[in-house]
Amino acid sequence: MEQHPLVREVFPDLVAELVALLEDEGENMLAISAWDLRLVAECGCGDDFCQSFLTEDHPRGQPFGPGHRCVPLMPSEGMLILDVVDERIMYVEVLNRPPMRDHRVQQQ
Ligand SMILES: [Zn+2]
Repeated sequence: MEQHPLVREVFPDLVAELVALLEDEGENMLAISAWDLRLVAECGCGDDFCQSFLTEDHPRGQPFGPGHRCVPLMPSEGMLILDVVDERIMYVEVLNRPPMRDHRVQQQ
């Protein structure tokens, strides 16, 4: 089975920011799991302000169900909101943020 890439290898700056913001919120368990998030799928909505992505397999458009909570963070730019189900981070909403560089891609 193909392993999804670690988010920290694709968007290291974002993960560092998420960990710091979660620690600020007192979400220490989520801060630890943020380090090990995997990039399962991009949001794919096509909105140019949206760089959100899924970090667990979850059918698109389905509600997260019981145990779901939103964890809004306060980044210096744009919006970062986590969708958490039973303390697992399912989805990272990245809205109105400067374009994130994919660190797997070699820059010229
Ligand atoms: Zn989207």
